[in-house]
Amino acid sequence: MVLKKYLQILEAKEKPKFKKNNLEKLEEKSFEIISKCELCERKCKVNRLKGEKGYCKAPCGLSISSIFPHYGEEYFFIPSLTIFFMGCTFSCVFCQNWEISQWYEHGHELSPKELAKAIDLYAQECKNINFVGGEPTPYLPWIIQTLKHVKAFLPVIWNSNFYMSEKTMEILKEIADVYLSDWKYGNNACAERLSDVKNYIEIIERNHEIAFRNGEVVIRHLVLPNHVECCTKPVLEKIASFFGDKVIVNIMPQYRPEYKAKNFKDIARYPSQKELEEAWKYAEKLGLNWIR
Ligand code: SF4
Repeated sequence: MVLKKYLQILEAKEKPKFKKNNLEKLEEKSFEIISKCELCERKCKVNRLKGEKGYCKAPCGLSISSIFPHYGEEYFFIPSLTIFFMGCTFSCVFCQNWEISQWYEHGHELSPKELAKAIDLYAQECKNINFVGGEPTPYLPWIIQTLKHVKAFLPVIWNSNFYMSEKTMEILKEIADVYLSDWKYGNNACAERLSDVKNYIEIIERNHEIAFRNGEVVIRHLVLPNHVECCTKPVLEKIASFFGDKVIVNIMPQYRPEYKAKNFKDIARYPSQKELEEAWKYAEKLGLNWIR
């Protein structure tokens, strides 16, 4: 395992980043960004401070689906204090969390102080604070405000689709101890067709390189049926050429045809055992530090 800093924080030999850095300055910067929102690469330029909503439909403030100690994350992260935010900057037709990401549920509107209280309440029994969704990116300013009130000394995990803007990446440097990314596609055509997202490859590669320079990185890749050649293999090759065995890659078998997936012939079934084995064997062949 390579998450040395993460372990040092857990063993209290080092402080988490949010306890070391100037959160007031980060708060100011992040609120500036949302006056013409460009927290993610969609760059909707809406004034979130006035309640205008962009592609992600996130409000001016926190909207949270649930908070709980999660035992289903990677073994070295559990129990993980997982905070699920409403909305997403993607619209994946196979989203496994579509009730949250696409606003079929109503979120709980907590204040940053209330969220910080909830975090401190669970902190004793958890190893980290895991910001996820949907997608956490649209909530960055209020996440920073929350961290200002958090008393616990836990590492922060940024669990995201990795479509953040460079400005957001700049801020995350100062608060994310671990980046837990979701690298889905090996080409832009699949990304645009299945997640309604442009320039996927350029942005995801750039953000992974920035993350790698500034924190520890664990990459998740969900194996999609019929996408081993066009997505899984190119993704694993990129990871091998950029980072070798210095990041952990979780090659996940649990895809199921959720949400609108039944309307897309290629992904309207579970991945076969053969496809999964092929993905895992390929990771082995490339010398990746992988788990499943
Ligand atoms: S965070 Fe939401 S509003 Fe802001 S740029 Fe991204 S999609 Fe648009």
